Amino acid sequence: MLTKGGSHLGYQTHYVVDGGKARIILGVLVAPLEVSENKPMLDLLWRARFRWKLLPRQATGDSKYGTEENIVAIESQHIRAYIPLPDNDHRTEFFSAQEFKYDAERDIYICPAGKELHFVQGQSTERSRRYRAYAKDCNHCLLKSRCTTGKQGRSLCRSVDEEYLDRVRAYHKTEAYKKAYRKRSVWVEPLFGEGKQWHGMRRFRLRLLWRVNCEALMIAAGQNLKRLLNKRGWGRRPCPTEAVSLSFWLLLGDVLVVFRRSGLFPRRCTQITQCSSRNAIPFY
Ligand code: SF4
Repeated sequence: MLTKGGSHLGYQTHYVVDGGKARIILGVLVAPLEVSENKPMLDLLWRARFRWKLLPRQATGDSKYGTEENIVAIESQHIRAYIPLPDNDHRTEFFSAQEFKYDAERDIYICPAGKELHFVQGQSTERSRRYRAYAKDCNHCLLKSRCTTGKQGRSLCRSVDEEYLDRVRAYHKTEAYKKAYRKRSVWVEPLFGEGKQWHGMRRFRLRLLWRVNCEALMIAAGQNLKRLLNKRGWGRRPCPTEAVSLSFWLLLGDVLVVFRRSGLFPRRCTQITQCSSRNAIPFY
């Protein structure tokens, strides 16, 4: 990937994470850095959905995932796409498309000055429809300096999937969207921090894409196991002192066997089962 400092080689790790408190990682994919982030999203989502038989109500991602293709695919599966859309409307000082009202019944736009923009067949493509105001309206308009510099009248494009995009824009004002997005930054993003800080994800040990994918899977499985053990408890873990003590007694047993075989074994001994002398049990 080309960056300001030159070309940069590396990988991008994608996680699909369950939205519950446990933050279970449902899917992992490592892609080369030159593969843009939005590309693997749908494959990962469908795999997690069918592999784990899930019926997600919503999918959350950052603005890099917010392409029209992703939004349409997710929304058409009745999953709410809680994904920010790139703001392409405010790249110039002119009126943005949001300031034009769409009249679905008449299939026209109404501009801020109240004039109509009509569909133009010849300038439309398969995926977008162009609407244009009459030149005579624009050329005599007082708002023209804020709208267009062209002499043919202001035009704007409408995607054929604009309905889905409008629906996603409407989510952005809801509390559910804001909560999901906050949750993502607090619960999901730290998983990458954890992976980098504690599990070697900052620099993979292996080379080649498939090996790196195996390594990322192992790291994610480890992260999931940590959460599972956190939930169920770690069970009994011998502390180092106990381990040393156990190996001492095993070694002592071997030594005693050697002593017995060599005839040096004493006829009477005392086994101390605990450290307290009160529990000393003499045996012969
Ligand atoms: S320039 Fe044309 S499209 Fe823009 S506000 Fe005026 S009449 Fe409407």
